[in-house]
Amino acid sequence: MDNIAAHLSAIRDKISASARRAGRDPSAVRLVAVSKTHPAGAVVDAAATGQTVFGESRVQEARDKIPACPPGLEWHFIGHLQKNKVRQALPLFSFFHSIDSTALAEAMNRIAGETGKKVEGLLEVNVSGEETKHGFTPDQLRAEFPALGRLPHLCIRGLMTMAPYSDNPEDARPVFRALRELRDELQSAHGHPLPELSMGMSGDFEPAVEEGATLVRVGSSIFGARPSNNEK
Ligand SMILES: *Cc1c(COP(=O)(O)O)cnc(C)c1O
Repeated sequence: MDNIAAHLSAIRDKISASARRAGRDPSAVRLVAVSKTHPAGAVVDAAATGQTVFGESRVQEARDKIPACPPGLEWHFIGHLQKNKVRQALPLFSFFHSIDSTALAEAMNRIAGETGKKVEGLLEVNVSGEETKHGFTPDQLRAEFPALGRLPHLCIRGLMTMAPYSDNPEDARPVFRALRELRDELQSAHGHPLPELSMGMSGDFEPAVEEGATLVRVGSSIFGARPSNNEK
């Protein structure tokens, strides 16, 4: 408990300092506490410090964990969502960071429509071009964005990316900057507001905030290391 509270407080301070360095309002950045692989008890401890937004990347794990957590928390999905899990995922999560293909977006739109709901989320962009990463390439997104923006049950609020792993957070900065520039470009080309940028994890959230992140997804710096075979 003490650890989680102390880690959260240190991260909130760093987010605020990074925002101020860039002339941004610290309250424009929301911290998503990534609780994947960690038990409900860890969420309880984080929630006791006032943390309200939590991120999970597996539907089955979230189905088991969320009912064991305090009510009133906001659950965000951040992992790769398989189309055959959409029906289970929609009622569990209020926000989806990782809509990574047009096929997935269409499936989410269709299933949300069946229940008369709207899904809110972000389009994931593979800015760095790493083959192991999910998401639209920037050129794909330029081509497919107009149709995505017209899906009636999908509310696209912005973009998300993951930077390649590196020991040096500065290596991630060009990726974050490119995501912001792509957002600016799409926003003005299509007149579609894209206020949210989800970028930055434990190793690189400071440059992400400086480059305009409105959502940072931090796991291991809050809750401790995960088993390495269970990253997603
Ligand atoms: C696991 C995960 C995170 C959190 O990573 P940490 O390095 O533990 O902070 C953030 N975003 C996504 C998409 C993840 O899968």
